[in-house]
Amino acid sequence: MDNCIFCKIIDGAIPSTKVYESDRVIAFLDINPIEKGHMLIVPKQHWKNLAEVKLDTEKEIEVYEELMYIVRVAARAVISTGFAAGANILQCNNACAGQTVDHLHFHVIPRYGSDAVSVPVFTSGAAKYEDGEAAAIAEKLAKAIETIVKEEELL
Ligand code: AMP
Ligand code: ZN
Repeated sequence: MDNCIFCKIIDGAIPSTKVYESDRVIAFLDINPIEKGHMLIVPKQHWKNLAEVKLDTEKEIEVYEELMYIVRVAARAVISTGFAAGANILQCNNACAGQTVDHLHFHVIPRYGSDAVSVPVFTSGAAKYEDGEAAAIAEKLAKAIETIVKEEELL
């Protein structure tokens, strides 16, 4: 994709500090880290974000599976080696949710137990449901999920 900074990193036109690379996935350090070791896990296929991922071909499914696998491996690598005490996974979809680079990526952020990063990023309990609203919303979401699962025929 023209003008996509992560596609340029994938093509080698822009440098990055890589921690993993295969035919399908690349991972590198975030240039503006929330914590030391903050990584971005990125599919080489240009999808804007999770909502835009298409799983129509074998190749797309393989890219997506490896992407999710490496997110898990990166979190596990951080923790199991004792590099950090914990990790947060963050992924933003669309500008209103904080997405600034329009190429799908997962943040894996090591946590050291003594940092000043505040989690949760969002205030839990800030939204309040009216009576019956939670059930109505859950029904809407359940229908949407069911529709996509049926359409995609992957389960
Ligand atoms: P998001 O807000 O989820 O879209 O995050 C985009 C992330 O990409 C930010 O944390 C940026 O610091 C990071 N970023 C932008 N440009 C680069 C770059 N050239 N190399 C590494 N990370 C980058
Ligand atoms: Zn891209």
